[in-house]
Amino acid sequence: MTDTHTIGHFIGHFIDNRAVPGTSGRTGPVFDPATGARAREVALASAGEVDAAVASALAAYRAGWGTASLARRTALLFRYRALLDERRDELAALITTEHGKVRSDALGEVARGLEIVELACGIAEKLKGQLSTEVSTGVDVASLRQPLGVVAGITPFNFPAMVPLWMFPLAVACGNTFVLKPSEKDPSAGTLLAALAAEAGFPPGVLNVVNGDREAVDRLLAHPDVAAVSFVGSTPVAAAVHRTATEHGKRVQALGGAKNHMLVLPDADLDVAADGAVGAAYGSAGERCMAVSVVVAVGEETADGLVARIAERARALRIGPGDDPASEMGPLITAEHRDAVEGYVTGALEQGAELVVDGAGLTVPGHEDGFFLGVSLLDRVSPDMDAYRDEIFGPVLCVVRVADYAEAIALINASRWGNGAAVFTRDGGAARRFQLEVAAGMVGVNVPIPVPVGYHSFGGWKDSLFGDHHVYGDDGVRFYTRGKVVTTRWPDPADGGVDLGFPQHR
Ligand code: NAD
Repeated sequence: MTDTHTIGHFIGHFIDNRAVPGTSGRTGPVFDPATGARAREVALASAGEVDAAVASALAAYRAGWGTASLARRTALLFRYRALLDERRDELAALITTEHGKVRSDALGEVARGLEIVELACGIAEKLKGQLSTEVSTGVDVASLRQPLGVVAGITPFNFPAMVPLWMFPLAVACGNTFVLKPSEKDPSAGTLLAALAAEAGFPPGVLNVVNGDREAVDRLLAHPDVAAVSFVGSTPVAAAVHRTATEHGKRVQALGGAKNHMLVLPDADLDVAADGAVGAAYGSAGERCMAVSVVVAVGEETADGLVARIAERARALRIGPGDDPASEMGPLITAEHRDAVEGYVTGALEQGAELVVDGAGLTVPGHEDGFFLGVSLLDRVSPDMDAYRDEIFGPVLCVVRVADYAEAIALINASRWGNGAAVFTRDGGAARRFQLEVAAGMVGVNVPIPVPVGYHSFGGWKDSLFGDHHVYGDDGVRFYTRGKVVTTRWPDPADGGVDLGFPQHR
């Protein structure tokens, strides 16, 4: 039985279904963001340790995982789904301890990850090929999808369980084996996910976890036995990962950062819009790639009404440790990140924004050393300010005032990012126009965080995604498999004779 007690003070790697200590001599700190304490140490893998994880995954692939029957693969996935379901509280507790997000949010993350395991349980349906009979006399053509081999997954700190679950369940369901490199800031959830896969009965090597930093990533990107790389993280790293892994001949999907806009039209229900904006901007302390970080208000009246409503709600938010059921928002991931977020608020003020709600200087009694920051609301932000241009990734909401829809859509579409976008309106025609015109991969109509369900793929446009495939859903299956077309003719003994002509369909 694996439980959180096996996630001790020191987090090594998980290879061949066994916890293995790190041997590189390098480790990194894992903090409890609510207390600021250095709670655990994580091993930072050397290239040699990455090689061992990849060798194990390749051996498992060759030993039969790639050709294991669909019945066997799905039976294991169903068992895995049941185990995850049973252990969701433990997983959520680990997430809260290392990431800081409140328990309800951590449970939500696990539930959204489970969705993809459920999708993977139905892989047999997704992998059904196509058959055309009698394309020519006596000739049939079949299209098949086959696994790639060893796939590497590199994941960010902000969803330490959900993002790995976006990747490996579908990858292994398709017949690949997988090496996960979780964020070194909150690595325990990834290790527990792999331990539970072992408990469910997945053969050794099908899912390995190697902890580490850039050194581990660089080796995965260059390793000749890694066929494909799924990456989720910040835009500069996503761009570099895509470039390097592509240069090494790998298939790559690299999801990057975001700056998600929420457009509020004058006819919108401002209370509904304010509720949506506050939840989407400050939930998980703004550390979500689908967080709303900019509200675009059309018209001064809309902006005034909205800012007043958001401010009222923002001031009432209860900020505290994630394991306190009364907390609605927890701390940020590190002290450095908190200071950087605070710096954006100060910078915006210097650049002419209006600070309506100030999150600076918050202390949470009993948690004075935690990485807490209050929520900030900046009004009259303009596109040339750093707070608008950069991904802040914290509890800071910018309001940009525009005159009309045309100015709004031009602003949103000029952004370098295109992950999510939302429109709040009662006008179906305006909403329809927005969903067609906006340059973003995921659009919400009166829905502030439009993260697609498991059977629709997730992915952004522009600098929010490098590569051709979105994650999970049908795109995920396509990413983790490659196509093959088989043309078959069983000669009729009645026919015969050599024919040197180019094959034609008769
Ligand atoms: P990050 O880019 O710092 O790290 C992501 C992963 O890359 C980690 O595993 C890390 O160890 C590794 N890494 C970091 N620097 C590296 C380097 N120089 N070379 C190679 N590997 C490196 O991201 P983060 O701070 O952990 O996560 C937050 C970011 O992730 C935000 O920008 C957020 O928008 C983004 N994100 C995007 C999505 C999405 O679906 N588009 C989802 C979640 C998070």
